[in-house]
Amino acid sequence: MRVSPTKLATFQRCPQQYAFQYVQRIPRAPTAAMTFGSNLHRTLQTLYEQGGPQTETAEQVKARLQASWSGHGFASPTEEAAYKALGETIVSQFHGQYQIEEGTPLLIEKRLEAPYEDVRFFGIVDRVDLMPDATLNVIDYKSTRYIATDVSEVNDELMQQLSLYAYMAKVHLPYPVRRLSIHYLRTNERLSFPPEAMGEGWLERAYAAAQAMVAAHETERFPAQLGDHCRWCPYTSRCRAYRAHTHPVL
Ligand code: SF4
Repeated sequence: MRVSPTKLATFQRCPQQYAFQYVQRIPRAPTAAMTFGSNLHRTLQTLYEQGGPQTETAEQVKARLQASWSGHGFASPTEEAAYKALGETIVSQFHGQYQIEEGTPLLIEKRLEAPYEDVRFFGIVDRVDLMPDATLNVIDYKSTRYIATDVSEVNDELMQQLSLYAYMAKVHLPYPVRRLSIHYLRTNERLSFPPEAMGEGWLERAYAAAQAMVAAHETERFPAQLGDHCRWCPYTSRCRAYRAHTHPVL
């Protein structure tokens, strides 16, 4: 079975949400935050594909953002304009701050795949840089408001996702991975840490979760797992467990 870090994280969070999204394939309406993140990702992808910040002016990078902008999911023209202004600030700060970088991008928005036991992990990595000491830095862009200042504040989902990308990068490239980085776009700050921060046995745990996912497909059992994460679930109106929890029959 082929397993992406995103699918795996959804299944671990709530098998029922996973089933709505990936088994029944119930479409989710895009949110402003999702579209905003994609718009920034596309801008940085094309920027690096064309040579990086040092090859363009800040105005050209802002024009890239305009050219790749999607307006899906914004609640109103006012909200979209506010996000666009924020996006322009972010990309021009990025342009100024990353004229000179320690690493050289080797992979940009690259689809990777790597086997582990009977599972094939796959996904699109935002960026992998080759560092001066011939090691790899696996970078994930985040446009979220939340910004972790220490690795201990990074949630397990994101740690697992980054570690799986590092595992896949290691299979594809002849260099060791020495650094994982979360690049927070709203502040253009990077939080970097060694792969060992994930702790012992993380790959075995990811594999065990993937096996549970395979078993759920075989038995067609995807139990609901209520929690704080329900606040962000796009399927609350369809979820019986959520409705029973929020509107109990008296
Ligand atoms: S509302 Fe909560 S329990 Fe229901 S599918 Fe979504 S995440 Fe799962």
